[in-house]
Amino acid sequence: MNKHRLIYLDNNATTPCDPRVVEAMVPYFFEKHGNAASRSHQFGWEAEDAVDYAREQIAQLLDVDDKEVIFTSGATESNNLAIKGVFEMYARKGNHIITVETEHKAVLDTCKHLEKAGAEITYLKVQEDGLVSLTDLEAAIKPNTILVSIMWANNETGVIQPMREIATICEKHGVLFHSDATQAVGKIKTHPREVGIHLMSFSAHKMYGPKGVGGLYVSRKNPRVKVTAQIDGGGHERGMRSGTLNVPGIVGFGKAAEIARKEMDQDAERLSKLRDRLQAELTKLEETKVNGNEGSRMPHVTNISFKHVEGEGLMMTFNQNIAVSSGSACTSASLEPSYVLVGMGLGDDLAHSSIRFSLGRFTTEEDVEDAIKLVSTGVNHMRDLSPIWEMYKDGVDLSKIEWAAH
Ligand SMILES: *Cc1c(COP(=O)(O)O)cnc(C)c1O
Repeated sequence: MNKHRLIYLDNNATTPCDPRVVEAMVPYFFEKHGNAASRSHQFGWEAEDAVDYAREQIAQLLDVDDKEVIFTSGATESNNLAIKGVFEMYARKGNHIITVETEHKAVLDTCKHLEKAGAEITYLKVQEDGLVSLTDLEAAIKPNTILVSIMWANNETGVIQPMREIATICEKHGVLFHSDATQAVGKIKTHPREVGIHLMSFSAHKMYGPKGVGGLYVSRKNPRVKVTAQIDGGGHERGMRSGTLNVPGIVGFGKAAEIARKEMDQDAERLSKLRDRLQAELTKLEETKVNGNEGSRMPHVTNISFKHVEGEGLMMTFNQNIAVSSGSACTSASLEPSYVLVGMGLGDDLAHSSIRFSLGRFTTEEDVEDAIKLVSTGVNHMRDLSPIWEMYKDGVDLSKIEWAAH
């Protein structure tokens, strides 16, 4: 094995750009550099046409009207626009928003922000498999509920929420439904209108497009949803998001959407086989646990706890060779265990021993075979050195031990 080859299994943090995406973008940095809002000359028209085309490519992927696609700087901004925008626009109807403890920080921190502005937020717990309970959801809806925000697929575990059932409950109670679908769009079928989702966030850099460009789907009919702009200015994007459009980024996003629409089924089939192989081999090691509902999970993701092994330490044994993450990219700088896994009822020890493997379009069979060897060696090595593992092997009940200082 080439010692310096670095295997990328962190596609949930970001995906590389597809070369076809970059190729489509290049002309828009120079010859076709116009501002899509310049109405008086060829450069502007050309840029505007390119944006219109990209909007259509994305609308086709989502099976929605192109007027329902708003361009933003990424899914963080889309989540902010959707949640804050609905809160402000529907203030007279109510102030209660329901979300879930295991959402991305871009949703949770937006909700926390709104609490200071008078919003009432319910953070639903998830079950052990990561799925929300539909009974809990319905029980949480009150007369002042204006919005339910639940992600399509979780970034750490790949768990897919029951979108259709959630939409049915929202519809029954006349509540708007927003979904952070950043991890699902371009990888599995995500048709918000068909499912009954009214607002949906997504991002180019999670689907082989460039960083710094995202989208928000906003339903224009049955119901016609409005959001209050969070960035004011020239009135771009039908007044919902001002600011000069990132034309090259949007062109790349459109191309990424077109490729995804054509290739996602074959990508998913290939990657689920590789993921299953990786998971099957790694769970042959003693004392492992796959986190999240395996029956309702993205095809390219597996999150595994290696008991009595500290995840960050384990990663250090192979991070010259494999790029993965323990916890999410956003929190991996801290030593807090993943709140997503803790929310699923994992103890700190199991949460600390977890690694997320996320495959992607450019992952090869060789990558997976090498990863199996490297991770297995790393786990065995860590355990050989670990007094805790030794105690476990000697039959000590580790849960009964009182550790000093936590
Ligand atoms: C990556 C991610 C985001 C943030 O998207 P950006 O485009 O990087 O702002 C939001 N939600 C989920 C689920 C994500 O995976």
